[in-house]
Amino acid sequence: MATYQKILVAVDLSNESEVVLNQARLIADEEAEIHVVYVQEPMDNVYVGIVPQSAAFSSLGDLESQLGDELKQKLLKLGAEFGFSDDCLHILHGSPATEIHRFAKEHDIQLVVIGTHGQKGLQLLLGSTANAVLHGACCDVLSVRISADH
Ligand code: AMP
Repeated sequence: MATYQKILVAVDLSNESEVVLNQARLIADEEAEIHVVYVQEPMDNVYVGIVPQSAAFSSLGDLESQLGDELKQKLLKLGAEFGFSDDCLHILHGSPATEIHRFAKEHDIQLVVIGTHGQKGLQLLLGSTANAVLHGACCDVLSVRISADH
């Protein structure tokens, strides 16, 4: 079987990102192109329908852009620890599964590597990011089991 040459690693920037990145590194060829992707979800998605549209939403925009800067720094730090060049590190905006699918298609990604927690009960019904990515992916998906102590 040919090895994967174009890999997308989805990270949520928590401690578990290192587990997912390590696994991607283990299976990737030396020459493989690895893209590390974090998707920043819009904050107003969370509050629309709960809080009426008001001035609070315009300051939410500032907060979101500040948060974006901090997330970018975090991604750059993580990428540097793993020896990735900055142009392989991507912050996208929107819903994680949709953006990961879009990026995978646009960049001819052959494998998406993503963490998973082995959901049970209600969590299983509600689904996870890994489930959402798996359904509708245009390429192979590797889900890396994250143990409870991460
Ligand atoms: P979750 O299902 O949200 O617990 O996340 C499990 C895995 O999905 C993480 O280990 C990441 O690989 C990926 N993931 C979750 N949220 C994001 C995000 N915002 N951007 C990119 N990947 C994510």
